[in-house]
Amino acid sequence: MKLEALFNLDPNVKVRTRFAPSPTGYLHVGGARTALYSWLYAKHNNGEFVLRIEDTDLERSTPEATAAILEGMEWLNLAWEHGPYFQTKRFDRYNQVIDQMIEQGLAYRCYCSKERLEDLRHTQEKNKQKPRYDRHCLHNQGNTPDQPHVVRFKNPTEGSVIFEDAVRGRIEISNNELDDLIIRRTDGSPTYNFCVVVDDWDMGITHVVRGEDHINNTPRQINILKALGAPIPTYAHVSMILGDDGQKLSKRHGAVSVMQYRDDGYLPEALLNYLVRLGWGHGDQEIFSVEEMIQLFELESVSKSASAFNTEKLLWLNHHYIRELPAEYVAKHLAWHYQDQGIDTSNGPALEDIVKMLAERCKTLKEMAASSRYFFEEFTNFDETAVKKHFKATAIEPLEKIKEKLTALSHWDLQSTHEAIEQTAAELGLGMGKVGMPLRVAVTGSGQSPSMDVTLVGIGKERTLARIQKAIDFIKNQAD
Ligand code: GLU
Repeated sequence: MKLEALFNLDPNVKVRTRFAPSPTGYLHVGGARTALYSWLYAKHNNGEFVLRIEDTDLERSTPEATAAILEGMEWLNLAWEHGPYFQTKRFDRYNQVIDQMIEQGLAYRCYCSKERLEDLRHTQEKNKQKPRYDRHCLHNQGNTPDQPHVVRFKNPTEGSVIFEDAVRGRIEISNNELDDLIIRRTDGSPTYNFCVVVDDWDMGITHVVRGEDHINNTPRQINILKALGAPIPTYAHVSMILGDDGQKLSKRHGAVSVMQYRDDGYLPEALLNYLVRLGWGHGDQEIFSVEEMIQLFELESVSKSASAFNTEKLLWLNHHYIRELPAEYVAKHLAWHYQDQGIDTSNGPALEDIVKMLAERCKTLKEMAASSRYFFEEFTNFDETAVKKHFKATAIEPLEKIKEKLTALSHWDLQSTHEAIEQTAAELGLGMGKVGMPLRVAVTGSGQSPSMDVTLVGIGKERTLARIQKAIDFIKNQAD
């Protein structure tokens, strides 16, 4: 009884999956992993991926949460072919299906009062029966549709619902466990499970990948789909993510919002790689590019058991991707962090050069931006520990000498700056460190930076010379 072709679906597409978040909060890592698995399955099978916003809970859904979810999906680069569709825009369609179901005897109006339902429940509980609606209104008791009523789905009373979950295997629920579900409330609004069913049907969803918390909804949804004569998708219920203490992952464990990982300096590739391995595997392999994930992903290899989040491993992956991805690409993400930290990078080295200089040292982009500020901006203070260690009065001579040598350079490159430091050390009979360390603190403000030649080239001649002079003045001042 397909009422109309709503989504112009391409009949040649054999696999269509969806991610259907409720916009009641940000995109958290659990949701992101479900989205990723769903997306990968579609891509692996040359299929399509639909994004659907399940915003029927008007009290808990907010436009901010929708925006946050879309932002998370975009940052992770999980692109969708269809949507985002919003359930609140489809109430007419749901009601049209409900009306038709009433007409066909697949659903019925129920006028029972709250009191009657409560009495019924009490009696059933007393008799140790499972609380369920007794179909009092199945055969109309003389009420008319203008009286307040809900609409109930006429659930089969015999047999059971059996489905082959792609992750968990065969699942069977007896129909006498299932009630005649309310599909439309007294206020005329369709209920959650019903909207999901009509959407999955209209949107041609072939595979439903979702959290295991929805497993109880599945038999109810299958029964409605069957009544409608709609194809039954394959279901795959993915397990929960736990924190490293074995408890359900929550804010207590640190970041759970996908965008918080961006803010903390992670690359989307690292988070995707981390999430794909959290509950799925291919042998012992740990590193997966997105292309590889698409090529190898199978629902059958998704784990049935809960997975524990491990921040150390995510950090390790992040460092891997900072080093391995093309520097120009990493630089684009790094740019966001400079902006976030209020660092103006218009005057200084190219950001991809910063990535090349600091990839070994920095495990996050946040750290990379913070620790490379001196390439772009003057600093006001020298690090105290570094001052104590390297800005003794004896540092004045090597600083003056290196300044002289650097001033005289006609080319400012790795070789010439390196030689200038070497010559200064040799001429003063000092070890390289006695020249290099005061110089490092002078030009970067701290005792840590990439090698001196690389650092000097990045900072530039003019800034280097001015900073050395400032350091000399500082030390002299300190000595007085
Ligand atoms: N909207 C549901 C949620 O956010 C998902 C429902 C589904 O995937 O069927 O948990």
